[in-house]
Amino acid sequence: MFKKILIANRGEIALRIQRACRELGIKAVMVYSEADREAKYIKLADESVCIGPAASAHSYLNMPAIISAAEVTDAEAIHPGYGFLSENADFAERVEKSGFKFIGPSPDSIRTMGDKVSAKQTMIKAGVPCVPGSEGALPDDPAFIKRTAKQVGYPVIIKAAGGGGGRGMRVVHTEAALLHAVQTTKAEAGAAFGNPEVYMEKFLQNPRHIEIQIMADQHKNAVWLGERDCSMQRRHQKVIEEAPAPGIPRKLIERIGERCVAAVKKIGYRGAGTFEFLYENGEFYFIEMNTRVQVEHPVTEWITGIDIVRTQIMVAAGEKLPFAQRDIELKGHSIECRINAEDPYKFTPSPGRITTWHTPGGPGVRVDSHIYANYFVPPNYDSMIGKIIVHGDTREQALARMRTALAETVVEGINTNIALHRELMVDAKFMDGGTNIHYLEEWLSKRVR
Ligand code: ADP
Repeated sequence: MFKKILIANRGEIALRIQRACRELGIKAVMVYSEADREAKYIKLADESVCIGPAASAHSYLNMPAIISAAEVTDAEAIHPGYGFLSENADFAERVEKSGFKFIGPSPDSIRTMGDKVSAKQTMIKAGVPCVPGSEGALPDDPAFIKRTAKQVGYPVIIKAAGGGGGRGMRVVHTEAALLHAVQTTKAEAGAAFGNPEVYMEKFLQNPRHIEIQIMADQHKNAVWLGERDCSMQRRHQKVIEEAPAPGIPRKLIERIGERCVAAVKKIGYRGAGTFEFLYENGEFYFIEMNTRVQVEHPVTEWITGIDIVRTQIMVAAGEKLPFAQRDIELKGHSIECRINAEDPYKFTPSPGRITTWHTPGGPGVRVDSHIYANYFVPPNYDSMIGKIIVHGDTREQALARMRTALAETVVEGINTNIALHRELMVDAKFMDGGTNIHYLEEWLSKRVR
């Protein structure tokens, strides 16, 4: 096992990884930007290294600074968390070339899955069902593009091969709008992701977002750890996640889970990963794979009893998965609410000093957050400041526990979306379960203040 790990991230996930290190008796090195210097989780670390100014481009995305920090502290491995450099194949490669273990899949796996066109082609070959669409990237030929759209059937969605974070996508309803949409998406993709390639998919009208968590070691063992329903989204950003997904026949999910495991084995993937699917009319359609730990990993941890971050570290150290598929049993129901520093109505970011921070507790409540009273939320990063996760024997019990947890929570000094979560937890449709990916935005458009 490793003796020392460098955590190349910030905020709640940095603390989450630090906790896993402690449990395993591994020393944790934190890197931080000048904006995070005062944060408590930095002080809790065994060692810490400042890697640059507040702007992520010069700190949390600064590869040479992070690698030198690992060198000067004698860390053996680097955990990238999520976001930042976690899905950057070049970073993973530089980490390994510098003699450190990258806690994640191989650079090749990241590269293949990071390009959505090659990811989709790999999945088709591995027998994972995908959204119908263009075979590979779209060529320049306008006639070909029009023909493809006609075959796929309108509406279609033009997506950037290098896209991520809900950016680089455009829905097209008519042939008249098609070529212009392809051109604009290409130009935007080139500028934003350095790769102008785009592809086409059928735009599914009312799907749910269902994802499968997998975990694999380097000894050809792989398992799937159930699914998560992440359909409650705003601007393609997840707001609430839960596991299991309400109302989907187990047999159907098991079939997909097994396909994902087969695909993982086929490509020789190692580490944690997530297959994201759209689910509509009883069918699953693969959209992309995330080659890292996800924000919403706690809901899976709770229903399976498996520590995903700990397992990531163990398999990166070369150990075998400590469980087989037959050991994995899903118990009860778990729900996560992402707490963001933002206006609960307009969603504008709300950085600043937190004056009161009172977190909930009690049976079946977990809070993953790096926040405390007098913490200053810097304006430089993502607005998520923590997650409240609950578990219950049933979905009803989990909902009841979340309502209590949210009622107990007090955050003052900044605005948060807690009020939004309180409203959603008593919304009749959400309480029924199985809302689609448009539900939250439709609900917001009708919301009365
Ligand atoms: P990103 O990497 O940017 O998150 P995804 O491919 O995962 O991109 O898509 C993000 C979201 O966009 C999905 O969760 C879904 O809401 C929507 N979306 C993507 N592809 C389609 C599609 N073919 N039909 C309908 N919605 C889609």
